[in-house]
Amino acid sequence: MKRIRVALAGNPNSGKSSVFNMLTGAHQHVGNYPGVTVEKKEGVCTYDGYQIEIIDLPGTYSLTAYSTEELIARDYVLDETPDVVVDVVDASNLERNLYLATQLIEMNVPLVLAFNMSDLAKRRGIEFDLEQLSRLLEARIVPTVGNKAQGREPLLEAIVATVRQAETPRAHRLNYGDEIEEELAKIEAVLVEQNVEWVPRSGLRWVAVKLLEQDDAVTAKAVHPEIRDAVARSVEHLRGIFGDEPEIVMADRRYGFISGACQETIASSVERRHDTSDTIDAVVTNRVLGLPIFLLLMYMVFWLTFTLGEYPMMALEWFFEWAGATVAGFWPAGSDSWVKSLLIDGILGGVGGVVVFLPNILLLFLAIAILEDSGYMARAAFVMDRIMHKIGLHGKSFIPMLIGFGCSVPAIMATRILENRRSRFTTIMVIPLMSCGARLTIYALIIPAFFPHQWRGPVMWLIYLIGIVLAVVCAKVLRLTIFRGETMPFVMELPPYRVPTLKSVLIHMWQRGWLFLKKAGTVILGISIVLWALASFPKPSAEELAELNEQQRHQTILERSIIGRVGHIIEPVIRPLGFDWKVGTALIGATAAKEVFVSQLGIVYAVGSEEGGAEVLRRRLQADYTPLVGFCIMLFCLISAPCVGTVAMTRQETNSWRWATFQFLALTGLAYGITFLVYQIGSLWG
Ligand code: GDP
Ligand code: MG
Repeated sequence: MKRIRVALAGNPNSGKSSVFNMLTGAHQHVGNYPGVTVEKKEGVCTYDGYQIEIIDLPGTYSLTAYSTEELIARDYVLDETPDVVVDVVDASNLERNLYLATQLIEMNVPLVLAFNMSDLAKRRGIEFDLEQLSRLLEARIVPTVGNKAQGREPLLEAIVATVRQAETPRAHRLNYGDEIEEELAKIEAVLVEQNVEWVPRSGLRWVAVKLLEQDDAVTAKAVHPEIRDAVARSVEHLRGIFGDEPEIVMADRRYGFISGACQETIASSVERRHDTSDTIDAVVTNRVLGLPIFLLLMYMVFWLTFTLGEYPMMALEWFFEWAGATVAGFWPAGSDSWVKSLLIDGILGGVGGVVVFLPNILLLFLAIAILEDSGYMARAAFVMDRIMHKIGLHGKSFIPMLIGFGCSVPAIMATRILENRRSRFTTIMVIPLMSCGARLTIYALIIPAFFPHQWRGPVMWLIYLIGIVLAVVCAKVLRLTIFRGETMPFVMELPPYRVPTLKSVLIHMWQRGWLFLKKAGTVILGISIVLWALASFPKPSAEELAELNEQQRHQTILERSIIGRVGHIIEPVIRPLGFDWKVGTALIGATAAKEVFVSQLGIVYAVGSEEGGAEVLRRRLQADYTPLVGFCIMLFCLISAPCVGTVAMTRQETNSWRWATFQFLALTGLAYGITFLVYQIGSLWG
């Protein structure tokens, strides 16, 4: 069977994934592009004796070198030379969507246009002269309705026909006007002269266009001084003529071409009625009402996540308890076999402690998928954009940060909704400063121990507020330093509201949930085992333990373990923060999960977990520390070392240990600095 390789390109939300699903059905494989964390979906289908392999490129509005997604899509088209590129176009929003098509045309790729959302276009009374448009764009055009699987056969037919057609050069090309064309010709001539060997199949003209646009990736390849000089001269010349960057003038020309093509081929049979979307938008993006509506919806999302999630979470907790008890049953009572401890405390305890959040995560992603697919998310980003822009972030960053109050792990995953890499990484870096649910257990222990009733609420509020303020400041600093760069201009595109389909929502939810489970099964499992070993070995001798009761035994084991020893070793370092080795030991444990802080402190103080245990522990803490130290403990836990789940997720989503390590060290350093200041200044005041 002959093979055809097809790449699906298209704007975000054009229905690309729906078309992909329609073509490939269940025959899909999800992976990542090498070296980056952009999702790569591949699938196959057969048609008319051809084996058609389809790859879903990242959704992009354009093919510049500004964003990772665009570069991936472009490099794929250039380097992997797919036989056909199918550009999935939102036909109800044609002018905007054709920009990408003009760039693909310019790259000289065999192109098929899927006019998706053709149902919406029809409903709005838009009529296309497809034959004429197809002639202008020199590509076959097939109307499709991706979510209803309409247009599958004709689309496959067009793909096969495009491949069968002997490669004929394009008859027209996009004309940039005399001045620019002249410079393009000059650059092309120099390229020929220098005999450059890295010209892709898109040809010399495309390279010349990119050079004139001062595209980073192509410019980086043009090392010949002659080429650089020629380009610099041309750019200078054009700047002089247009008073603007050539890049901008050229983009204008492309839009001009599209607008012209559309005017010739599109007719609207009905007056554009004031449609439902406009009416809803008048309310939800309203200057006054927009924010409260957004906050209310977000509140509902959290309510849904945490209230509904509670029951399956309880079931999972119960399951892990039951599993622990069952496993424990394999050994005689009172046995202190290390295998038993590894299975129960290390593996079941560690992984179980994280997996119980699965229901929350699934519900959260379900809610997000609904908001995204319905079109509301774009409005939410619009509403928040003005505020978020002040700290150099995109409006959409607000959503992951909000999720961070629940748990950083899904929050970091949720940054996938951000298209710009710099905004996304900045957001990932500051998410751990949003005080997560697990830290609440620490506050719940400390605050009642040190603060009188009337101060408890305000102290809690202050801690949360410090986290938010620090996140804002850090985001701003990051955007001014390592993640410097323009914020992507916020193109205000509000897709029409749609009722999301159950299938697409469930697929979205499941894909993200599965990723989370894989994480728990691998990285978190590994780290749990390591931490368990560090807290269990080396063991004191049997004689030493013989005289002790159960609690003292646990205490001695922990004190002698590596974690306990490290706690002692770092004592001089954390002294200036007001902490002793006991707090140090608990802090190290807390890197497994913040909740562990409380249980480890319980162990070092030899307080059992029986009823009233927390009260006993609080009294011991009161005896040992001042309220200032109590506050410093909370402060340090808030800012420092994100838990292993967060580190693992940052590693995965940034695809680099470097960023995960940077986040870990920078936050811990920041925590040290701030806690140091607070403790020292606080001590002076007394
Ligand atoms: P992508 O971002 O380009 O991958 O877009 P998706 O395939 O995720 O689709 C976005 C939304 O548009 C989903 O809610 C789809 O169900 C919906 N959708 C996709 N194709 C069509 C279509 O042809 N007509 C209509 N009305 N909705 C569609
Ligand atoms: Mg998609």
